Amino acid sequence: MSDQKVFKASAESKGKAKQLRLFAFLAWIIAIAAQIFAIFKLIGNETLTWLIVAIVVILGLSITGSMLWKKANKLDPASEKDKVKFFVQNQLGAIMGVLAFLPLVILIFMNKDTDKKTKGIAGSVAVVALLIAGISGVDFNPPSVEKYTKEINEQTTVLKDLNFDNDQVYWTKAGNKYHIFEDCQHIKGRDVINSGTVKKSWDEKGISELCKTCRNRAVKQKETKALEAAE
Ligand SMILES: [Zn+2]
Repeated sequence: MSDQKVFKASAESKGKAKQLRLFAFLAWIIAIAAQIFAIFKLIGNETLTWLIVAIVVILGLSITGSMLWKKANKLDPASEKDKVKFFVQNQLGAIMGVLAFLPLVILIFMNKDTDKKTKGIAGSVAVVALLIAGISGVDFNPPSVEKYTKEINEQTTVLKDLNFDNDQVYWTKAGNKYHIFEDCQHIKGRDVINSGTVKKSWDEKGISELCKTCRNRAVKQKETKALEAAE
């Protein structure tokens, strides 16, 4: 098809994604630094409470990093063509989550100076934290350039069918919907209303979908026009 549209993240999206990724790395680096501190200073019978506190802190940082990372991927997804890059980019949160805990888990169980009870408590808390960090980092439905491209073309077809071959839409910065009508109740009166094609709304926001209120209104408008034409 000659009019096939291909998703391309806007410069602004790419910039925002870059910033989010930077913050994600920052959270992961602090998490790993905290882990190193815990390994050297907190594995022991007397420091069990502090070890558990450290594990909770590391878990929080690790989950925060994964959330920021996934958000960045939604704005600026990888292409499915490069399988390795696609996997690493989408599952990096899980990889970092495991890295933030695995050495600690191993060293808790290998430590010779702690008693059985401490080992049991600290070890099981750390294993649970590892599992939570790992699973919450997995992207079960990773975004991709190809998926976005498919959506853009399908949604453009739907929209043109609804709105007399016109795929001009409106959207605001917040939210992930676009609107056919500039005076839709959901965006009316907003300071900044952007407009452009369906593709542009994807390029600028990542995941986008048509507002239901606008869709119903467009369906009615189309029916009315069809009736008028029949008369
Ligand atoms: Zn609307």
